[in-house]
Formats: sequence, C-alpha cells, structure tokens
Amino acid sequence: METPTQTSAERRDEIAANAHALDQRIETACTAAGRARGEVTVVAVTKTFPWTDVAHLAALGFRDMGENRDQDAAPKIARCRAEGLVGLRWHFVGQLQTNKVGRVAAYADVVHSVDRPRLVGALERAAAAHHRAMTCLVQVDLEDGAYGETPTPGAPNRGGAAPADVADLAARIDASEHLDLGGVMAVAPREGDPATAFARLAEVSAALRSTYPLAVLISAGMSVDLDAAVAAGATHLRVGTALLGSRPPLG
Ligand SMILES: *Cc1c(COP(=O)(O)O)cnc(C)c1O
Repeated sequence: METPTQTSAERRDEIAANAHALDQRIETACTAAGRARGEVTVVAVTKTFPWTDVAHLAALGFRDMGENRDQDAAPKIARCRAEGLVGLRWHFVGQLQTNKVGRVAAYADVVHSVDRPRLVGALERAAAAHHRAMTCLVQVDLEDGAYGETPTPGAPNRGGAAPADVADLAARIDASEHLDLGGVMAVAPREGDPATAFARLAEVSAALRSTYPLAVLISAGMSVDLDAAVAAGATHLRVGTALLGSRPPLG
C-alpha cells in the first residue's frame, strides 16, 4: 500500500521492481519445467489495494486483475473504468456467496471459485441478466479429507468441490448458455507439500480435458507456492503479495 510518505512515483517503482523479480522467478520455474513463459499468465490480485495500484500494474503491462470480495472490488473497478482503465480482465478469485452473484456478474470476466451447483444456476441467471458471458473455473478442494484420507484436524476449509463432484459441476457450467467452462482452480492446503496438491489438481484437469478439450485453464499458485504450480502445469498464477507487498487487514 502506498504509505502516507510514499509518492505515486515511488509506489510505481516499487511495484515495477516487484514485477521484475516475479517475472524472473516465473521464468526460472518455466525453464526448470521445460515450459514456455508465454504459457503462464499472472493474475495480479489487487484485493485491499487502491485503484491507483491497478493503474501502476496496467502501465507495466498487466491485463488480468483479481479480487476476492465484492464490497472491495465493485467500487474499485467502477473507479478504474471512470479513470479510463479499460481493456482489463477481472477475475473473481474468492469464495462467492449466492446472494453476491448478481453484483459480481456485472464486472467479473472469470470466476475462479465455482464449487457448488447452486452457484452455477445463480451465475447463469446473473450473466444472462447482464447480457454477458463469463468464464467459470471449477474450484477443487485439495485437502486430504476430499480424497477419503484422514483430514488434518482443524484444517480450515478453503472452499472447493471434492474431486468426485467436478464432473457434475463442469457439465452444469458447460450446459449454461452464458457460461464458458474454462478449467480448474485450487488453493494449496496450508499443511503439506504444495507440489503434491498441485499434482492432484493436474490429474483432475487431465480428466476434465478428456471430456472438455477446451477447458485448459489451471489456476494454481500464489506468492508462496507459484514455482510448484508452474512445475505442475499451472496456466494462471494468482499473485498478490509478491507484486504489491503485504496487505492491509481486511476491514
Ligand atoms: C489473496 C488471494 C491470492 C493471492 O495471494 P498472495 O499470497 O498475496 O499472492 C490468491 N488466490 C486467492 C484465492 C486469494 O484470495
């Protein structure tokens, strides 16, 4: 966050330096994985940060921006549009309540967190009402419990459908006129090796693609584990802290 003593130019330089370091990190991970850098898109997660940071990111060439709470996202995106920041693709990456879908459908181009049938119905109705199309990713729960293994006691639920429910959700999205099935998304469990979790996600993605060959997106990896995500085939990295610094607490 721009501190009271930091000028806009200083903030711009800070984000540019972070973006450069991030790019090197992704480049290194791609090289190690034998992948082309162009296969990986960074979604800059701007949640809690001001619209001016979106402007700095856009000036650096970032086109994909991520938000996780409608209360924060809606006014910020409206401000960005009013300031002439157009041509951006907005990704909704947070857990989504059904009663917020109508608002989110006004601006989201991609929804990463589709994890239950009711949400698909609500998204389809909202997209139709706004005369828009949205890309939907099925969020997959990678906690051990979702695999019939003993769950880690007290592990927080970070959202997501059990792998066994992915096919049904995908079919519902695919059958929805205003929704495109983009692929899958996951947040690595807090415990355990992210590489194991992302390998599971890659398997879920492969199974999905055998039915829906166009559903190629794999949204995986955040600031702490993006290297493991690239190694496991992620196409979209959701990066906040590594670009913008530590977040002010959510109000
Ligand atoms: C906030 C958030 C991110 C970004 O996390 P960082 O650790 O700041 O990179 C990614 N994905 C989701 C779902 C988020 O809510």
